[in-house]
This record gives sequence, structure tokens and C-alpha cells, in this order.
Amino acid sequence: MSDHPTTPSAEPAIGRASGFALVSPDEPGGGGFESALARNRAFAAAGEHEGAVVFPNLRLFVITCLDPRVDPAHFLGLDLSDAMVVRNVGGRVTPEVINNVAFIAQIAETVLPDGPLFEVAVIHHTQCGAGALADDTFRGRYAERIGAEESALRDQAVVDPAATVAIDVDRLRSAPGIPARVEVSGHVYDVVSGRVDTVLRAQPAQI
Ligand SMILES: [Zn+2]
Repeated sequence: MSDHPTTPSAEPAIGRASGFALVSPDEPGGGGFESALARNRAFAAAGEHEGAVVFPNLRLFVITCLDPRVDPAHFLGLDLSDAMVVRNVGGRVTPEVINNVAFIAQIAETVLPDGPLFEVAVIHHTQCGAGALADDTFRGRYAERIGAEESALRDQAVVDPAATVAIDVDRLRSAPGIPARVEVSGHVYDVVSGRVDTVLRAQPAQI
């Protein structure tokens, strides 16, 4: 972040829209990748990667936000090989995410000739930074930065996670490339309580 200083107006805009602190007062620095690499050496030395399989043990595909508070390995207790995970800003079901699910469905169909393939759990969360896209000033600057239509970005804001997750579950269930053998569910993760509440129970796609 130090390479890209923000303008004076940027942080208040994000804070107003999403209600979260950008900087933890307890972590002024952070070790970057060097710190992570040291943890990797311990991971490899302990053999924690051994026995990992390519098709997820829980037959689960999680779509959620890239916010570091919202790591499904922690709040869902996922171990290695338990689930496939796609994370982006807000945990939104974009065309690219739909294609990712379609790709895994096609692979799974070759392994599992009958019955359900896997469940896709779409999980939005409280205090999501994607709420900043509801702020006109922030959204306008971001649209200009990435060369996108501002009106399309407004729909990507996550202000009411129960509402947006329902929209995204419907988007995924109705996508032509997602077979009915894939089930889709929707949930909200509360970053204060640590609890996940189900908004929409698992139902087959294309219903
Ligand atoms: Zn978020």
C-alpha cells in the first residue's frame, strides 16, 4: 500500500460506506511474503500437504470475499482439500466466477456419472469493503481507474449482504452453464459474532 498513497478523500469515503477500519492498530507493519514463506517451510517440513486430493472432501465450492477477516479456512474450519474457494471483492458471482463453477462442474461430471456433483456456497459478510462501491465519489474514481461503466459497478456494492447474496445465488442457479446436479446455497458471515447464517438453503441449479 505504501507505493500507492491514497488521496485525502479516499479513506473517509470507504469508511463511511463500509464501516470498517482500514488499519489495525496492533499491526503497524506486517511481514509480507517473507513471513509467509517461513510458515510455508514449517508446513512442508511437517508434511501437512501429504494426502491432499484434487476433488474436495466436502464436495464444497465456496465463493466469498477477499477480506482477510473472511477466510473460510478459519471460519468454516476447512482443512487442505476440503473445498474449492474463489474469493473476490464482495464474494460476487461475476461472469468469470460462473465460468469457474461451470469448469469444475464439467470436470466433476467426468468423475461422477450420477447424482449431485457438489454444493456452491455463496457467502457475503457484514462490514464488507465492497460497500464502498455505493459511494458515488469512490465508485466514480474506481470506474475511471479500471475503465468500467460506473452504473455496472453500483450493482457490485455489498451494503445488505443478505440481499446481495440472494441476488448472486439466483444468478448462479439460473446460469445456463451450471447443471442441475450442482446445488447452490447462500449465507451471511457476521464478522462481529463469527457466525454464519444461512439465507437460502441448498437447491439445485436451474430451478
Ligand atoms: Zn468484503
